[in-house]
Amino acid sequence: MSEKKTVVLPVSEDTIAYAADIIRRGGLVAFPTETVYGLGASAYYPGAAKKIYEAKGRPSDNPLIVHVSDPREAEDFAVVPDEFYRLAERFMPGPLTVVMKKTEKIDPSVTGGLDTVAVRCPDHPAARALIKASGCPIAAPSANRSGSPSPTEAAHVISDLDGRIDAILDGGACRVGVESTVISLDGDGGCTILRPGDVTADMLSEVMRSVTVAGAVTDPSLSGDRPLSPGMKYKHYSPRAEVIAYDGTLEEMIKAANSDPTERTGAIVPDGYAGKVNGTALLSGDGGADDSCHAFFALLRRADELSLDRVYVRVPPKTGKFLALYNRLIRAAGGRITKPDN
Ligand code: AMP
Ligand code: MG
Repeated sequence: MSEKKTVVLPVSEDTIAYAADIIRRGGLVAFPTETVYGLGASAYYPGAAKKIYEAKGRPSDNPLIVHVSDPREAEDFAVVPDEFYRLAERFMPGPLTVVMKKTEKIDPSVTGGLDTVAVRCPDHPAARALIKASGCPIAAPSANRSGSPSPTEAAHVISDLDGRIDAILDGGACRVGVESTVISLDGDGGCTILRPGDVTADMLSEVMRSVTVAGAVTDPSLSGDRPLSPGMKYKHYSPRAEVIAYDGTLEEMIKAANSDPTERTGAIVPDGYAGKVNGTALLSGDGGADDSCHAFFALLRRADELSLDRVYVRVPPKTGKFLALYNRLIRAAGGRITKPDN
């Protein structure tokens, strides 16, 4: 594809108006959300979404999430059941994406050939202002090259997409750091989690009659050729460094990293463990789920900046907000889990 001039803009009323104009004319703008940076195009402009796939190198059957500034806007392009509004009342704006039947209005390139559309109302003032000013829903996947870790800062977007998109709105670091929870509705008051995120199964069960977690969330080999959520079948989130998903205690993991003969080795550890790692300690905050999710993708990118060959990451529990991290980590590690050899 031909090289473009990508402008990087601080968020202001003027730059939002400028970026919205690009979207209306069928161009591409990366923008901050509370989860990760999105790469946006008009969901209505014919062919605009196709440019997203080209810029990212994304397989064309992996559908995009359509972003709205108010949940009611979904009625314009989706068949919206009552449950959606129950969910919206509790979780929107916020990091929840709901898959529903689509109408003809959505450009077919947005949904990767599916007859469903994924809808999200982001909780970030710049994202919502951009959607409002554009006057159309914005189709946006994460703003990274396909397969690499999702971008949580504007610098990550620049490093992946400079010269391939029209503009980047720089709104600083994203709060959550992992992508939204994606669910489908079962039609009988229940839902299925297709991709875990900051909105957990427990939180969803406050509103839904039942909550099922799709098998592929914790077992990538179940993604198959026709997965419920096509994004789950691709190797994902991988830095150049080899990611070792280590299923042991923190002490066991640090011991394994310290005795690894690989020349440039690092380990993601909570701040308090900085001095215990012989190689590079990549610090993830207090070790809780919020800090660990917030830091994960940025630290995988940091590992590459430091030219590390291997990075050790402790396998988190499959519960609560940690489930999102578990899901991203096993994909980053190519599905392999390493255990201490007793
Ligand atoms: P990204 O925002 O880059 O993480 O990608 C969007 C994610 O949403 C992908 O994992 C898709 O598989 C998922 N997704 C988008 N639309 C649908 C849909 N209609 N049905 C199921 N999953 C979807
Ligand atoms: Mg993505």
